[in-house]
Amino acid sequence: MEQLDIKSQDLPELKKTVEGLSEKPFRAKQIYEWLHKKQAESFEEMTNLSVSLREKLERNCQILSLKVLEVQTSKLDGTQKYLFALPDGNVVESVLMKYHHGNSVCISSQVGCKMGCRFCASAIGGWTRNLLPSEMLDQVYKIQKLSKERVSNVVVMGTGEPLDNYDNLLRFIRMLSDEKGLHISQRNITVSTCGIVPRMYDLAGEDLQITLAISLHASNQKKRERLMPIARKYSMDELMKACRNYFEKTGRRLTFEYSLVGGENDSQEDAEELAHLIKGLNCHINLIPVNPIKERSYVQSDKKVIANFQNKLEKYQINVTIRREMGRDIDGACGQLRKSYIDKKEDS
Ligand code: SAH
Repeated sequence: MEQLDIKSQDLPELKKTVEGLSEKPFRAKQIYEWLHKKQAESFEEMTNLSVSLREKLERNCQILSLKVLEVQTSKLDGTQKYLFALPDGNVVESVLMKYHHGNSVCISSQVGCKMGCRFCASAIGGWTRNLLPSEMLDQVYKIQKLSKERVSNVVVMGTGEPLDNYDNLLRFIRMLSDEKGLHISQRNITVSTCGIVPRMYDLAGEDLQITLAISLHASNQKKRERLMPIARKYSMDELMKACRNYFEKTGRRLTFEYSLVGGENDSQEDAEELAHLIKGLNCHINLIPVNPIKERSYVQSDKKVIANFQNKLEKYQINVTIRREMGRDIDGACGQLRKSYIDKKEDS
């Protein structure tokens, strides 16, 4: 019999599991706190449970745990990249970034990705599978444990499209912010999407306080299609409607991510068109100088071009920041640590 992934269970489910083992429901809360507040890695540690309950749990359930394969630390800014092995041997990558306002962990939501964005390293190997809630949670738990740093922010911006793994993502968010767990405020959780429009409407109705970031990367349909295949499925028009709806329903200010690709989307006209596109929308724009990957010929925009792009948007009273490049000296772009590990394995 396959063992139950107990770390993916929310409290109501855990109550049912405990009852199924002929135990009192209040035990569920104790187990939940062991797993998610104290991040226990074995049932043995759960000393306020009876030995017989611990044995029953041992027989029926597993506590999923990621294995660290590699940690790279930036000498420039202390950013750390973690390569984790999942129980089935797949690998995922997560990042710890240290800011003045607190520590932020960037997690992966899938093994690989189906979305195929042209400049993204994670797109190259394609998609393997969704991550379970426990596998997303354990990226945060393990980083907190290993780095001994308190994690205050979580961004779902690593490998994968989170809204393509919707149910597990939702459970992850609710469990991560639960006061009986790590209790990270939903206001400190950001989910980044390439724009799966129907799921954006669903998300708007979930009564969450999270920040939604949309990977826009272009100011019109034609240019967006060139960089992101998803644009052919959901038009710019539909996407912007979904964004406006998200703000109306949740009152949460949106973030737009715009990766500046030299000569592709970084002209003054592009900036102007972008300003018109988001007119009247309560949002913030995050400009990301594209991180070149060796499989593609995209290049970064010149510093001057980036500054001009920012200035143009500011003239329209748009909130805009240029993303600081963190950990430049350690396997650059998102997904590259994982990719270089897989490439090495295939070569050997
Ligand atoms: N699938 C989600 C989240 C993962 S990517 C999404 O599309 O939003 C996180 C962000 O990094 C996205 O905005 C993505 O477009 C961007 N990104 C990916 N590769 C990049 C690269 N090489 N340079 C700059 N930004 C990149």
